[in-house]
Amino acid sequence: MVKERFDNLCRRLYGRPVFQCTNHELFHVLLTLTKDLTAEGEEIHSDRKLYYISAEFLIGKLLSNNLINLRIYEEIEEELNKCGKSIAVIEDEEEPEPSLGNGGLGRLAACFLDSIATLGLNGCGVGLNYHFGLFHQAFREHLQCEEKNEWITDRSWLKKTNISFDVCFGDETVTSELYTIDVVGYGGKRIPLQLFDLKTVDESIVKSGIDFDKTAVRKNLTLFLYPDDSDEAGNLLRIYQQYFMVSNAAQLIIKETKEAGFDLHELHRHVIIQINDTHPTMVIPELIRILTQQEEFTFDDAIDVVSKTCAYTNHTILSEALEKWPLPYLDKVVPVLVPIIKELANRIKKAHPDKSELWIIDDEKRVHMAHIDIHYGISVNGVAAIHTDILKNTELNQFYKLYPERFNNKTNGITFRRWLLSCNRELSGLLDKTIGTGYRKDATELKKLLDYRDDPAVLDAIEKIKRDNKEKLVSYIEKQENIHLSADSIFDIQVKRLHEYKRQQMNALYIIHKYLEIKAGKKPVRPITFIFGAKAAPAYVIARDIIHLILVLSEIVNNDPEVKDFIKVIMVSNYNVSYAEKLIPACDISEQISLASKEASGTSNMKFMLNGAVTLGTDDGANVEIHELVGDDNIYIFGADADTVISHYKNEDYVSAELYENSKVIKEAVDFIVSDKALEIGHKENLERLYNEFLNKDYFMTLLDLEAYIAKKEEIFADYENREKWKRMSLINIANAGFFSSDRTIEQYNRDIWKLK
Ligand SMILES: *Cc1c(COP(=O)(O)O)cnc(C)c1O
Repeated sequence: MVKERFDNLCRRLYGRPVFQCTNHELFHVLLTLTKDLTAEGEEIHSDRKLYYISAEFLIGKLLSNNLINLRIYEEIEEELNKCGKSIAVIEDEEEPEPSLGNGGLGRLAACFLDSIATLGLNGCGVGLNYHFGLFHQAFREHLQCEEKNEWITDRSWLKKTNISFDVCFGDETVTSELYTIDVVGYGGKRIPLQLFDLKTVDESIVKSGIDFDKTAVRKNLTLFLYPDDSDEAGNLLRIYQQYFMVSNAAQLIIKETKEAGFDLHELHRHVIIQINDTHPTMVIPELIRILTQQEEFTFDDAIDVVSKTCAYTNHTILSEALEKWPLPYLDKVVPVLVPIIKELANRIKKAHPDKSELWIIDDEKRVHMAHIDIHYGISVNGVAAIHTDILKNTELNQFYKLYPERFNNKTNGITFRRWLLSCNRELSGLLDKTIGTGYRKDATELKKLLDYRDDPAVLDAIEKIKRDNKEKLVSYIEKQENIHLSADSIFDIQVKRLHEYKRQQMNALYIIHKYLEIKAGKKPVRPITFIFGAKAAPAYVIARDIIHLILVLSEIVNNDPEVKDFIKVIMVSNYNVSYAEKLIPACDISEQISLASKEASGTSNMKFMLNGAVTLGTDDGANVEIHELVGDDNIYIFGADADTVISHYKNEDYVSAELYENSKVIKEAVDFIVSDKALEIGHKENLERLYNEFLNKDYFMTLLDLEAYIAKKEEIFADYENREKWKRMSLINIANAGFFSSDRTIEQYNRDIWKLK
């Protein structure tokens, strides 16, 4: 059936059968076919609907995922194989990847949509249609360069709707246009991702790189995912974007609720809004504004119903990420909301006159967005057990004491359709044969694999799949980066956003240490390949310096005749979802080395585990739960724990210079950053700044854990040589990954917060 439709569509669109079409043509045909089949799929109905509002949806490419979820991947692949073609190659060559997210938070939102559709829950995603996404990363002179990431073409998954709203800012009114992308769940049910665009957007104002006039709001609002916010114009633009997003979302919610025939006084029975991090917070005052100004609600009634409709997810305890907007900025951008926000703030101040940490507007006239969410919502959730505990006991303790019943944990998850069935078809094929296909619907069935922990045939098959995936990655990297790697080496991988708390710099210091050891004659028994992938925020200076250091090390190590046969260092360019799908199945060692207490959850740790990598990490975020699931023997944990770190911050007693002075190993590694060898290749300004950062600040305590990290790495590399042990560890990690399916996470959100169906 599907084969016939596929062939007919080729003939209709291009006048040729499948085997005569080019990959370019075939992508268009498959896009059309998939869109048609999706539209024919089952729509979800119920009288209660979820609006998952998020500034980011890092959805990745959709072709193979949609084919898998429609359950026609095999049939189509068979047809293509007959003429020497494949879905993977067509997707690689022809489908642009939308970069509508920074990293984990946006990727989480994308996994959630997949699970919401799979579970048949009535919901949608709401966000913005950024034309150039985040940015495309290139390296020049060992530095990151940003270029615009163009992804919208006439062959994209976007569908235009005729829905449009006006959004009034302080100085002007703009008009939106709504686009949707259908998200297909496993089995074919669909939900929409609703992306609002600006009718008057003008791509031509982007001159070189990603520079544009930040003040031209009617032209720029949906060009980039919140760009540089290091200056006032950048911050104002973020507020413009946020209000544009939530005003559209609020108008859509009101429109749909009325169209369904529901009474807005019962809004909370028919609508639940999940506020993903603080970016969509202004949806609360915006809904109150619409209800009081256009729907004749009293202020009390509006607050009451809106507060019962909203739920907030906290993603971080890093203070720079907890948004606090200066009141004068809000006055300029959204004067219509300011009286409402002041009233919301006054009520809290009146109720808690001597607890300023609970206030919405502080003494410096900054509006704490998270505080609006907590006071005027039904739920506050963290994203991993340890993170929620830190919120309750430390960061948001005063709020927890006030509203203990609102706090709950929802440990993150990932969709196994993308992160196993699609990115590692060989492994999922082996699982099908070994434990049956039940795990595809119920991920906890992966546990059945534990029965094979001593079965040499299964252990060897897993090892062979890993080896094949490493070979594939080697050829991809060769093509992409023009660097040759060896699949016989250990693949030690750290891929995630570049941030000091994630401590890529600690991994870099280890590499320096290893380099110096090899130069001194101490050689590793097996070659090791250190792979990084990371984008740095354009205005984050130290993060860019860390990329520079890694690129300089790569040049030094890979070209040193005494060293290059033992270790190699590579930073892949433009790390994104598609790259992740190739790197993760090929990984031996998963680097999850954040400073304990700082990584709220992490999700790449889950993807790596599911694909048979062994974790080397701190007891932080979801690593803690991975540790509990696999036990001490199947994970490598090191470093100071969260309590120790939190007490260092509290007592202000961490002094990196002392650690530097007192350890030869630390001193040698740090000094190398400004050695003649490094300065010969790298830039003095960047390297010296980074060196000084280690000595004078080291806010994320790299040097605190460096020696423990070195020791743990030696242990894990040695254990890699015990192949029997390693293969068993790999199997045990896969078998225990079922807990991290986003289907489980979404079931918990629905049971405790959304209550749909
Ligand atoms: C999963 C994922 C992330 C999140 O990685 P963490 O290590 O959890 O921060 C970031 N970027 C991409 C492309 C991902 O797929």
